[in-house]
Amino acid sequence: MRFRVEENQLIPTQSHENSFPITQIPTIPQPPLNPAFTFNPDLLQQLTGKQLLLDDLPYSITEIQMHYENGYLTYRKGILKNKKQSICARCGNRDPQWFAAFPCARCGETCIYCRKCLMMGRISECTPLIGWNGPEPETTLPAQIMAWQGTLSEGQKTASNQVVEAIRQNQEHLIWAVCGAGKTEVLFAGIEAALAAKKRICIATPRTDVVLELTPRLKAAFPQIPIASLYGGSEDRHLFAPLTIATTHQLLRFYQAFDAIILDEVDAFPYTVEESLQHAVVQARKPTSAMIYLTATPNGKWQRECRTGKRAYTTIPARFHRKPLPVPSFVWCGNWSKQLQKGRLPQNVIRWIQTRIQADKQTLIFFPHIPLMEKALSILRPFHPAIEAVHAEDPDRKNKVQKMRNKELPMLLTTTILERGVTFPNIDVAVVGAEDAIFTESALVQIAGRAGRSKDYPTGTVTFFHYGKTEEMLKARRQIVTMNREGYKRGLLDDMGGAK
Ligand SMILES: [Zn+2]
Ligand SMILES: [Zn+2]
Repeated sequence: MRFRVEENQLIPTQSHENSFPITQIPTIPQPPLNPAFTFNPDLLQQLTGKQLLLDDLPYSITEIQMHYENGYLTYRKGILKNKKQSICARCGNRDPQWFAAFPCARCGETCIYCRKCLMMGRISECTPLIGWNGPEPETTLPAQIMAWQGTLSEGQKTASNQVVEAIRQNQEHLIWAVCGAGKTEVLFAGIEAALAAKKRICIATPRTDVVLELTPRLKAAFPQIPIASLYGGSEDRHLFAPLTIATTHQLLRFYQAFDAIILDEVDAFPYTVEESLQHAVVQARKPTSAMIYLTATPNGKWQRECRTGKRAYTTIPARFHRKPLPVPSFVWCGNWSKQLQKGRLPQNVIRWIQTRIQADKQTLIFFPHIPLMEKALSILRPFHPAIEAVHAEDPDRKNKVQKMRNKELPMLLTTTILERGVTFPNIDVAVVGAEDAIFTESALVQIAGRAGRSKDYPTGTVTFFHYGKTEEMLKARRQIVTMNREGYKRGLLDDMGGAK
């Protein structure tokens, strides 16, 4: 598409005469809001707080342009340019390797586009990002906003109050909750406060699994509030809702939308490695807004900021059942990968496994790499025919996890794919090769956090088999011990466990 500038307005045109791709127009004029104009209420619903492409909207350019001319829509440049580089306005990409040029039929020039966010529709130099500039949708509040009536533990209550406060004051706050502390319930009062103040609130997470898991829980807690649940392929894409649950990917379509964002699992892949997702979260916030971060395992930098008072945070150091987190023990097992290549497992690993099979105790065993895990599987199958192994690309992954839940498997071998998000009530956990670089402090804390989660089985052993202790292993154990100690000190644990 090309635009010409006329009487301080952009006018879309086919002609090349005195017209340009939007990126080349220095400043985009914004016509003033015409209160006499009757706008299309569907556009209001679909565009509030968004930045969409023409292709995302089922309306003619004529209708879109009319709303722009009357001040109800904004056009923003999809690709920004400064002297040196191109910058994608949607995903923040400025790496030249992630831009490409193509002969563009829409503007009739060689057009540069962003490859980084291509899966959300192509943004090129002639692509306007369309947003809403009119009034906000009216929301009516039901008599009862929240139906949830559960109780919070002491630790949860403290955190819950902080969330409410941060949302009221538009502040940033980190909730550092140990694995299995029950962090979702900690959000409910804050969400209720936001909704009551007619604020638009979003729970964002890097993982689709989490969106799918949270949606029914929030619908049950807030049954009369419209909730948009957004992930790749979801159907709620065009729904305006006071409460949104979305993958961080989906936030690329939002622009200054939310008064409060709750970012769950800040430390999870791909959020930690994808700058575009961090960009998406930042620009989905209104300039004045609250930001709540939730995690069981903040990275080293954040932990330091917490310790030195640079970051506002609250810990939930204990689980609901008041038993300490299982503290991992370190067991040296020699050159396990060399042994595996020769078709053997270290004797102490074998013993650990045999004891548990005989005692009918379910186990989850982590391996750093798929091929070695497959080797281990073939060695272990003779011990019990139902032992299984899973990894990220395993098409049968969901089914195997379900079988493990149903207690049909005595043991599940896994890569780090199951380090978070799964709960099996009564298991012992081991890592074989805990010294591998893939097992970061945060991965190891998450892995250890798989044990002892249920109130019926609040304990479980966690063993890190290794061929040389690493700093990450030590940091992980220290973090767990510190949390137990704090939980005990605050009266949230019945006993101290390994936190001596
Ligand atoms: Zn992009
Ligand atoms: Zn073009």
